[in-house]
Amino acid sequence: MNEMMVQTMNFGVPMIYMWLLMILAIALYFMPTIVAGYRHHSSLFLIVVLNILFGWTMLGWLLLLVWACFGDQYSTWSRPAEKKCPYCAEYIKSEAIKCKHCGSDLTKAPT
Ligand SMILES: [Zn+2]
Repeated sequence: MNEMMVQTMNFGVPMIYMWLLMILAIALYFMPTIVAGYRHHSSLFLIVVLNILFGWTMLGWLLLLVWACFGDQYSTWSRPAEKKCPYCAEYIKSEAIKCKHCGSDLTKAPT
């Protein structure tokens, strides 16, 4: 009887760790969603849906995490290969010699 009481009391302490572990597991499970959200991924909605559906499969989770981390390199928040047109202020390719928005010749420096 006394032994059983001790066992019940001891069980209360690891329960906190159980909860912490569960929160950690959930956070880990939604890691692709968290990363995609942090990076303002253009396919964020799709990643969230696929994360919920296929996150439990290790391969699906891993692929989503890679996609969230390295995919979507030309999103709106980072424009590595784009410049602003000096005539119409629209974003165009940095290699462009003619603006696709206003048709201005970009080989001549704007005055
Ligand atoms: Zn332009």
